[in-house]
Amino acid sequence: MISFYPGPSRVYDTVPTYIKDAYKQGIISVNHRSPEFMQLYHKVKKLLKEKLNVPEDYHVVFTSSATECWEIISQSLISEYCYHFYNGAFGEKWFNYTKKLVPIAMGYKYDMNKMLNLKELDLSSENGVICLTHNETGNGTRISNRRIARIRNSYPNHLIAIDATSSMAGVGLQFENADVWYASVQKCFGLPAGLGVMICSPKAVKRAIDLDENDHYNSLNFLIEQASKNQTSYTPNVLNIYLMGRVLEQVKPIEKIEKKIKKRMKGYRKFFGQFEQLDFLIENNKVRSQTVLTLKADPQLIKKLKEAALKQNILLGNGYGDFKENTFRIANFPALKAKEIDKLKAFFTEYFN
Ligand SMILES: *Cc1c(COP(=O)(O)O)cnc(C)c1O
Repeated sequence: MISFYPGPSRVYDTVPTYIKDAYKQGIISVNHRSPEFMQLYHKVKKLLKEKLNVPEDYHVVFTSSATECWEIISQSLISEYCYHFYNGAFGEKWFNYTKKLVPIAMGYKYDMNKMLNLKELDLSSENGVICLTHNETGNGTRISNRRIARIRNSYPNHLIAIDATSSMAGVGLQFENADVWYASVQKCFGLPAGLGVMICSPKAVKRAIDLDENDHYNSLNFLIEQASKNQTSYTPNVLNIYLMGRVLEQVKPIEKIEKKIKKRMKGYRKFFGQFEQLDFLIENNKVRSQTVLTLKADPQLIKKLKEAALKQNILLGNGYGDFKENTFRIANFPALKAKEIDKLKAFFTEYFN
């Protein structure tokens, strides 16, 4: 089965071998307070920074999911004001989680075919947290690096937190232009679910220290303190951290990966353009995601397409949220192989001919 689901998604081919290695080397049972684990943590952190171009002074913290990061940001980094800008289901979900802990959180929903424009909301507070979803997995949109750089310039005193769950390790991010970046690994990292990574700027760390929130096992202060010793606050998913290290060793630098992803997306755009029955949900190519394709069609056709694909061992991703019935999604994640994409295209060509 080839999974084109945008998460959990296809893992790298090498993952089974790495799992076996982890077992043979005793990594699976290693004590998380041992020197072996600390070395592993240190090594993976270093690799992550190297391969993804993360600034040296940023902190890398492991969590169990992106959802956990939503909560960590609310509890440890938002004192009062925060501003969520979203155009789809995941961004909205994050906003709803924040509201539970920060009832006065503000949310602003923007048009999914338009570029994000913060000027539409008053951000006069000096130190609020701006919350953005870099790649909205629900509808297949993205915010460009340039846009994020402009937001950083316009609001130098705010903290900027970015959900990059379905783009980190797939496209290049300019980490220096925001303070908190996070992802879970079952999307572009090509790893099994159950691990999240949170990348924090010195400014975010300072904010956490100033707010002095220490009530939780995953209070950011505690996580950072432990991480600086290559430790964690609870027994972590050591196997997945190990797998991340092995995968990061194996993959090319992010510039090369991004080039591949963009080229493939260009190919998809041309390819799907030829079928009258299918449309991209997002008409504006400038805000369309590079890593998640969302295609719109008649719900009956989608049902048939998914069934027919399954018979050829191709798993298409369901639509999400409001677009559950009238769209389907295709992951353009790096672990997918060229020949698998060829097979997918051959399936569509045959289906519509
Ligand atoms: C998948 C996804 C999440 C949730 O990830 P979990 O690992 O289930 O917590 C959050 N945000 C975005 C943008 C996602 O794509």
